[in-house]
Amino acid sequence: MTNHLFALVRENLPADPDKTFIETPEGRRYSYGDLLLRSGAYAAALVALGVKPGDRVAAQVEKSAEVVFLYLGAVRAGAVFLPLNTAYTPAEIGYFLGDAEPAVFVCDPARQEALAAVTQAVPRVLTLDSAGRGSASEAADRETEAFTDVERGPEDLAAILYTSGTTGRSKGAMLSHDNLASNARTLVEYWRFTADDVLIHALPVFHTHGLFVATNTVLASGGTMLFLPRLDSKLILSLMGRATAMMGVPTFYTRLLKEPGLDRAAAAGMRLFVSGSAPLLAETHREWQARTGHAILERYGMTETNMSTSNPYAGDRVAGTVGMPLPGVALRVVDPESGKALPQDEVGMIEVRGPNVFKGYWRMPEKTAAEFKADGFFITGDLGKVDSRGYVHIVGRGKDLIITGGFNVYPKEVETEIDALPGVVESAVIGLPHADFGEGVTAVVVPGEGAPDEAAILAHLEGRLAKFKCPKRVLFAPELPRNAMGKVQKNVLRETHAGLYGG
Ligand code: AMP
Repeated sequence: MTNHLFALVRENLPADPDKTFIETPEGRRYSYGDLLLRSGAYAAALVALGVKPGDRVAAQVEKSAEVVFLYLGAVRAGAVFLPLNTAYTPAEIGYFLGDAEPAVFVCDPARQEALAAVTQAVPRVLTLDSAGRGSASEAADRETEAFTDVERGPEDLAAILYTSGTTGRSKGAMLSHDNLASNARTLVEYWRFTADDVLIHALPVFHTHGLFVATNTVLASGGTMLFLPRLDSKLILSLMGRATAMMGVPTFYTRLLKEPGLDRAAAAGMRLFVSGSAPLLAETHREWQARTGHAILERYGMTETNMSTSNPYAGDRVAGTVGMPLPGVALRVVDPESGKALPQDEVGMIEVRGPNVFKGYWRMPEKTAAEFKADGFFITGDLGKVDSRGYVHIVGRGKDLIITGGFNVYPKEVETEIDALPGVVESAVIGLPHADFGEGVTAVVVPGEGAPDEAAILAHLEGRLAKFKCPKRVLFAPELPRNAMGKVQKNVLRETHAGLYGG
């Protein structure tokens, strides 16, 4: 037996160990030879610290190449890597550490003191800063012998990622070696990644998008990453001439569209733009195509399932859809109440099954059991439909569904109508407590130049949507609250405006 996930990396190592794996904007370059040595050194350091197969290695650190080596080191040591959002407060970190009981926790040296109160129970606390320095990298520096990967099978855990937890406590999604390896293989083939690819990587590496979708796909094809600490549209634009692909959340595309320099010539060397983690507005898709000549490829997945669907590489990339189920992934839409499969074009709960789907929630057997059907399908919590061509459309999260006077309103349907109005930048439609209706449909609109007022928006919707779907009120805001992955935080909007209809 080998180490199932790292074996995929080994299989695809470029023949030349000097080939660049990661390059940073400051010109730091890490080769595939460095990757092997450094990840081996981290693995050896972890083992020397007492990390055993199956132990968790948690990290809340700024993005750097060293974090990637720490992740791969944990995998090679047979441990379970547990990256944590850099925005989490000490109290939140305390919850995760208490729940996951890691053997090692790596944090930013600048936060070590603030975290001291919540890290007492962790056997080893090490540090790593954004420049890749700290006691963790020093421990790796001391390891000079080549490391022999700890054997791990396809079903063994490689990582735990906590879900963003917009309602209730966040849950640790347990991802196996094969969940990650099989998805990386599928994406390499589906998106045609090769060793010649140079990926612009400006995503965080504590989330499935940046750590697995982007990094594992490059590792499984022997390509190169241009590693940016964060979204910086000017820098991305300046790098496009040297790159072939970019993966981003929708905000990447809306920000880049604000750059006057974004045109066909700037994107001429690029072969692929991928978007995911949040819905891409159909208008952004169209604008991007008009400006650059490229159709953004939108895909859909989640922490628990890795990637489940994708628009085609060669066929039609349809704006407003997330494409078809990936090879090996089964997807169905069911009635959320009866659980019965729904016909084409009907909106219901999306369920998926395949090698991509996680092993369950860490230490939450009841929650896990509640989210899986007897035949192995995972209930995603996303509402959507499949159209006549087999394209999947996401209409929102189940918990964002509005029930007003006993009628179901899918926010996306109302948002699409509002967004189509000239002068509207974007909108979010939410349900707020309402004495008569249970929930009152409410729109929060980000106005642009020449935006219509509340009365004009309502008048526009009246003829287009059934009366029960029309908002009772339209509110305006300079921007919508978003999390690090660009997702609109409707829970924040619901809290802010909870009293609008008097309770
Ligand atoms: P996360 O676990 O943080 O990756 O969030 C996963 C959730 O993001 C999914 O369950 C969807 O609600 C949403 N999501 C991901 N990709 C898309 C997409 N292309 N369009 C719409 N929603 C998406």
